[in-house]
Amino acid sequence: LLGVVALDGPSGTGKSTVARRLAGSLGAAYLDTGAMYRAATLAVLRAQVDPTDAAAVTEVVQRARIGLSTDPGAQATTVDGADVSAEIRGQEVTTAVSPVSAVPQVRAQLVAEQRRIITEALDTVGGIVVEGRDIGTTVAPDAALKVYLTASAEARAQRRSRQDSTDLSATLASVQRRDAYDSSRATSPLRPAEDAVELDTTELDLAGVQAELLAMVSE
Ligand code: C5P
Repeated sequence: LLGVVALDGPSGTGKSTVARRLAGSLGAAYLDTGAMYRAATLAVLRAQVDPTDAAAVTEVVQRARIGLSTDPGAQATTVDGADVSAEIRGQEVTTAVSPVSAVPQVRAQLVAEQRRIITEALDTVGGIVVEGRDIGTTVAPDAALKVYLTASAEARAQRRSRQDSTDLSATLASVQRRDAYDSSRATSPLRPAEDAVELDTTELDLAGVQAELLAMVSE
């Protein structure tokens, strides 16, 4: 039985792709916690609420029904029943997601939901790969394996701009701004768990990262 694999780190490390592939090759479930924060943010934007107004954000997110698939081969995210998989990757959501995910009540709600999903996956398929920022520290501190992926800001911006066809220098600025915000906020700052294995992906391609992770799982 695999248990929980926690995959944390900033964006642009190849985290999502390798997490999904790893889950697929292990026959495990997959949970993209970033998609949940993005879906919550989309609900806030649709309600035309200021993303920095914590009380209003809390209320909107409490009412929103966020749904997401844990099948690594068929990812879909919904808000109030409608598929928002493409929309949550857009620039508007990416810009507003940091302040929304800094609201303590939003984190408490989503972490509780993530733990529920993890328990269900362990009961049904026996394993789940969970990717995010605070999985090893907060969501699943007892995870069987914790990996913290890193890469230089330049390498991460390059991957992001290639993936989303955006301007490189603007993407680098956005990556650095989100990193600074995510690692300095008061609630659940972005940092590795003490018992996490750090894997620097700057010089690795996806297959290389995948091979390293599979080796760690089978250790
Ligand atoms: O991983 P992704 O880039 O989709 O995450 C979007 C944002 O959601 C991050 O920049 C971060 O602000 C927030 N997030 C978080 N905790 C997580 C996952 C994502 O705060 N576990």
